[in-house]
Amino acid sequence: MDKDLSFAEDLELKLDGKRPIRRENPKKGQSRWYYVDPRERDEDFTLLSQMKTIDVPSPNTPNPALQQVMFEDAENNPDKYYIWRTVGDDKVRDSHAEREGCIFSWDDAPEGGHPGEDYNCRCIAEPYVPRKDSSESDEQWRQRLLTTMKEYLLEEEDLKNHIYLDTKGFKTVGAGKNIDKWGDFKKINWEVDGRPATEEEKLAGFERYEELKQQKFFGPNVTSDFFEDKSNLRISEKEAEHLLEQHIKNDLNKLETYVSGFRDFPFGLQQVLLDIRYNTGNADRRNWPNLYEAIDKRDIRGMANNVNRKDVGESRNQWAKETILSIKNWGY
Ligand SMILES: [Zn+2]
Repeated sequence: MDKDLSFAEDLELKLDGKRPIRRENPKKGQSRWYYVDPRERDEDFTLLSQMKTIDVPSPNTPNPALQQVMFEDAENNPDKYYIWRTVGDDKVRDSHAEREGCIFSWDDAPEGGHPGEDYNCRCIAEPYVPRKDSSESDEQWRQRLLTTMKEYLLEEEDLKNHIYLDTKGFKTVGAGKNIDKWGDFKKINWEVDGRPATEEEKLAGFERYEELKQQKFFGPNVTSDFFEDKSNLRISEKEAEHLLEQHIKNDLNKLETYVSGFRDFPFGLQQVLLDIRYNTGNADRRNWPNLYEAIDKRDIRGMANNVNRKDVGESRNQWAKETILSIKNWGY
């Protein structure tokens, strides 16, 4: 059915862990077939050869890592999936016997089609029934997480109402909002003496900080307060909070998109991942391999030991650790 795939389509399926890869010269203990773990794909670019391999006995065996991803997603989108059921006698073809109890997406038919579609197939698709009762809607959960993190970050981050250069020399405002490029800078609701700033005033402020940057007025020894009187552009407290909120929302979006099963993680782990992404710009599996290994194993102590960041204060690292350790239990 998929003989006509282009190289790019084939690669895409392999990166997503949907298509097994054949080993030309398996070493001792290696199988002829393997998949990669699709959870290792990151936002930008991933090389197939750098991804974790998962050996399977035959090309018909579903990818265990992808199974886990789909089982987790099915908790929120049960109608998208079914469980493959065979009749269980010895006439079931081998390729279908390997699918018994596995989960499949209605959007993505396996080789030979969905149950009952292949010639003489007696298999059936059993509807997926979620384990949890979802008394909280996705939107309510999202709101709860955003509110919790906003309160936490408002305390943790120092909201600056004026522009400053961060330690790397990037123009910044509020709680670390990067406005180094003019395109981002001009979108801010700047004020001068409580009234909206004019285009000229905005441009003058931008250029002033561009100069300070050229003159290397930044680094660990230059505090943000040094910049207070360098321009009269200000943001209101409301604007600062709004920027913070936008920042958290964007981070949450990315986590929901790129971290499989994020919605079903314990609330404490969701908070910490959100804080890591907020603060470092990345909470990917590839940047935090030990953390995700512990997450895969539901190993709470292992997670707590792998949330430390070099560039944040001791209290923030402590908060992350304690928030993880407060997770009571997280079983399958
Ligand atoms: Zn069948």
